[in-house]
Amino acid sequence: MSELQEAIAVDFVGGTSAVCEAVMRLRGEALAHELGRVARSLLSSPTGRFVQGAGSFEAGMIGGALRHPVFAGTEQFGYYEVAGRGYFDSDYRQLAALAQLTANLMQMQALAQRSTHAYAQMEAQLAHQSQILDQIHESVLTMDQMGYITSWNRGAEELFGYSALEAIGRNILFLYADEEEGFHDVFAEQGGRMMEVRRRKKSGEVFWASLSLSPLRDLAERPIGLIAYLTDITERKQAEEQLHHLAYYDELTGLPNRTLFARLVDQALMVAQRNEAHGCLLFIDLNRFKRINDTLGRRIGDELLRQVAQRFRDTLRDEDVVARLSGDEFAVGLFDIRQHFEATTVAQKLQNVLDAPFYIAGHDLRVGASIGISVYPQNGNDAETLLGLADIAMERAKKDDANPDRSVAFYSDDMNQGMQERMRIETGLRHALGNGELTLYYQPKFEIGSDRIVGAEALVRWVHPQRGLVPPGEFIPLAESTGLIVQVGEWVLEQACAQAAIWQKAGLPPFRLAVNVSAREFTQSLPARVADTLRRYQLDPSWLELEITESTLMHDIGRVTGIMDRLTALGVALSLDDFGTGYSSLSYLKRFPIHTLKIDRSFTTGIPADASDCAIAGTIISMARQLGLRVIAEGVETVDQLDFLRESGCDEVQGYLYSKPLPAQDFERSLRDNWLLIA
Ligand code: C2E
Ligand code: MG
Ligand code: MG
Repeated sequence: MSELQEAIAVDFVGGTSAVCEAVMRLRGEALAHELGRVARSLLSSPTGRFVQGAGSFEAGMIGGALRHPVFAGTEQFGYYEVAGRGYFDSDYRQLAALAQLTANLMQMQALAQRSTHAYAQMEAQLAHQSQILDQIHESVLTMDQMGYITSWNRGAEELFGYSALEAIGRNILFLYADEEEGFHDVFAEQGGRMMEVRRRKKSGEVFWASLSLSPLRDLAERPIGLIAYLTDITERKQAEEQLHHLAYYDELTGLPNRTLFARLVDQALMVAQRNEAHGCLLFIDLNRFKRINDTLGRRIGDELLRQVAQRFRDTLRDEDVVARLSGDEFAVGLFDIRQHFEATTVAQKLQNVLDAPFYIAGHDLRVGASIGISVYPQNGNDAETLLGLADIAMERAKKDDANPDRSVAFYSDDMNQGMQERMRIETGLRHALGNGELTLYYQPKFEIGSDRIVGAEALVRWVHPQRGLVPPGEFIPLAESTGLIVQVGEWVLEQACAQAAIWQKAGLPPFRLAVNVSAREFTQSLPARVADTLRRYQLDPSWLELEITESTLMHDIGRVTGIMDRLTALGVALSLDDFGTGYSSLSYLKRFPIHTLKIDRSFTTGIPADASDCAIAGTIISMARQLGLRVIAEGVETVDQLDFLRESGCDEVQGYLYSKPLPAQDFERSLRDNWLLIA
C-alpha cells in the first residue's frame, strides 16, 4: 500500500465512524448535512453534498462534479456529489466506497427501525391484552407444558392472594388443595375442558373453583402450554351441599331421612346379595311421644326427638344405618348379622336405651318404643318393601303385646314364633342360672388298648321344672348369641372345679376333667378366672382341661395364642373340640399350644361304612401324631368304630359304647366299681 493510500485508509476509517454516527443519530436535513461534510473532507473537495431521495442516479463526472448513488439492493437512499478540483479514478473509487458504506448502514438502520417499530407495536398489543385480562373479573393464568406459571392476571391475584411476582415461575401444583390430584391427569385431556376443582389460597383457605383449560399455542400452532380460567364457585357449592343435606338428612336430628335411608339400604342389600348375607330392617315407633308433644309443646318434643336419636346412634355400631322417617318414627338397617334373630337383641337394646328418663326443661320424660322387623331376603329384597313390612310388624307388635315398650315382632309368623320361643328360653335360662336349675353330667374318656379311664367331660344340663332335662343344644347357641353364655360358662367352670376338688379330697388319683369353653368366653380375663378358681378349690391344675372349638381359633391369632399360653402356663391342658368341622390346616395348628385333637362325632358316625369319613378320621389321626398331639374320637357307639380307631392309631375314645354322660354320683359309682383309673 502506498503512503497516499495509507493516508486515505486512515482517513476512511475516521470517515466510517463519522458515517456510522450520522446514520444512527441523525435524520433528514441534519443527516444530509453531516454526510456532505464527511464527503467533502474525505475527498478534500471545496464543495460536496449528500442528496436524499429515490431515483435512478448515475455515477461518474457530471458537469464538473463527481457523483455516486447510494443504494443497497433495490433500495435507493440518494447520492453523493463532490466538486471544486480535478478528480481521478482513485477519487471515484473512494466515493464509491463511501456510498456503499452509507447504503449498508442506512439499510441496517431501516431494518432496525422497522423491527423496533414492530416490537413496539407488539408490546403495545400485549399491554393492551393484559389490560383486558386484568379488567375481566375471572382469573386467567397461563402455564407451560410442565405446569410452570407463565402469566397471572389481576383476577388471579385477587382470587389466590398471590401477586404475579409471587406466582409466575412456580409450578401450578402449589395451588392444589389435594395432594393426590396430579398435574398430569388434568393435562392429559387438553383443550376446552371444564371441571370443578379444589384449590388453595395464599391464606391457606381451600375453595371450589370451576376451571376451564384451553391449549396455548405458538405462532406455528405448536402447543406450548395451557390457559386456565378459574372462577370461585364456593358459594354455589355450599348451596348445593346445603340442598343435598336438606334433601337427604333430617334437619332436626341430623340423621339420614327416609330417602337417603332407602338408598343406603338398597346399596347394602346389593352387597348382602353378593355375600349371600342376611339383612334386617327395624321399624321403630315411639310410644307416648304424641302426648308429650301435644301437652308440652313442639320445642320440648323436638328436643326429645333429638335426644332419642342420639341415644339410638350411640347404641348402634357404626356400620348400622339409622334414620328418622317422620314424626316419631325411626328405622334401623342391620346388615352385619349372621342370623335374623340377632335383630331382636338389637331391638331390645334400643328399647333398653330409652329406659332412663329424659330431662328436658325441668320435665322428667319417658318414652318407649315398639319395634317391627322385616328380614332380607325372606320378606323382600328392596328397601321400600322391607320398610313397609317392618311397619306392619310394628303395628302388630304394639297391638299384641301387653307391654308396648317391650314389644318386638317379626313380619313373618314363623320368625315370630321362633323369636317368642327364644325369648322364653332366654328368660327361662336367666331364671335357671339364679335358681340352681343347671347341673353337670360327666362322660368318661378311655385310653384305647388299656381301656383305662383318662378323663371326663363335663356337660351342662338344664333341669327344667316342666320340661325336664333340656340338652345344651337347645340353649347353648342362644346363650351364645345373647351373651348369656358368659354367666353359664362361669357357673360350669365353678361347678366342675368344685366337683373335681371333692374327688381330689376323696383320694381319687387325678384324671382330667374337661370343661367346654365357647368362643365368647375366650377372653383375656379367662386365664385369671381359671387361676382364681383353681386356687379357691386348692385344685391341682392337672385336674383341669379346657375344650375349645375351632371357631375360637379363627379370631385374632395373636390374641388367642396369648390367652392359650397363659392357660397352659397354669398347667391346664387344652383340647380342640369338634375337630374337622372347621378350617384348621396343619400349619395353622402348629401355632397353638394344644394337647389333644378331638375328632368330631360326625366323622365317627360314618365309620366304618363311609369311606370318606374313614379317610378323614385316619388323616386326622396321622396328622395329630406328626404334630405330637394326642387324639381322641368322640361319639363312639360301636365295636366296629372302636376297632377302626384302634387300628388307625387313635389314642382315646369317648362315647355311648363305654358310657353316656352321667350325673356326678352315678359317674363316681361307676368309677369306683367298673372303671380302671390310669394311675
Ligand atoms: P361336645 O362338646 O362336642 O360334646 C359332646 C356331645 O356329644 C355331648 O352332647 C355328648 O352327650 C354327646 N355324645 C357323647 N358320646 C356320644 C355318643 O356315643 N353318641 C351320641 N349320639 N352322642 C354322644 P351334649 O351333652 O348334648 O352337648 C352338646 C354340645 O353342647 C357339646 O358338644 C358342647 O359343644 C355344648 N356344651 C355342653 N356343655 C357345655 C358347657 O358347659 N359349656 C359350653 N360352652 N358348651 C357346652
Ligand atoms: Mg366338648
Ligand atoms: Mg365335640
